[in-house]
Amino acid sequence: MQLVFASNNKNKIKEIQQILPQSITILSLEDIGCHEEIPETSNTIEGNAILKANYVTQKYGYDCFADDTGLEVEALNGEPGVYSARYAGEQRNSEDNLNKLLDVLTGETNRNAQFKTVIALNTNGKQHLFTGIAPGKISLEKSGAEGFGYDPIFQPEGYQETFAEMASDLKNKISHRAIATQQLISFFENQK
Ligand code: IMP
Repeated sequence: MQLVFASNNKNKIKEIQQILPQSITILSLEDIGCHEEIPETSNTIEGNAILKANYVTQKYGYDCFADDTGLEVEALNGEPGVYSARYAGEQRNSEDNLNKLLDVLTGETNRNAQFKTVIALNTNGKQHLFTGIAPGKISLEKSGAEGFGYDPIFQPEGYQETFAEMASDLKNKISHRAIATQQLISFFENQK
């Protein structure tokens, strides 16, 4: 069976191909000749994952899954959420984004936050959603050099270190993306 992952991130594609059953061949957007930018115009994380998966299924006819992630901060009513990638502007710069978040939270004692990943899967004419949540806190300052994005200021629940201070194999076991991906894998394993 062929399944498109609506992404051009070669690392993500390789990683998922290695963990899914061998009977599933993952195709990238490039593999199916989709070179246009897929609109991500929804105001929710779920909505954007669905938009991306539906775009590929409707325009190219493939079974497909797509993911979308955001950081939801309790004291900001869930912001930056779906706008996490462009929180500090359209330049989509991670350093600018996390500096802005630290600024906005200056003096705020409620530092609770969570990362949320939603995967939308279209297969056999049906849609399935898988959600992975990593609860934690926004630290007072940046710490660590691993990972990407907001990792230097996100301290997952149950750990003293930020995601950016963790070895990547630990982060990849407990992260929002890992949890959502595990649900996708379980779905296909139960189909066997
Ligand atoms: P995307 O949906 O995977 O593109 O993620 C949206 C934005 O959330 C990215 O631009 C990152 O800034 C942030 N993000 C997603 N996943 C992570 C993560 O695991 N750690 C830190 N930041 C992340």
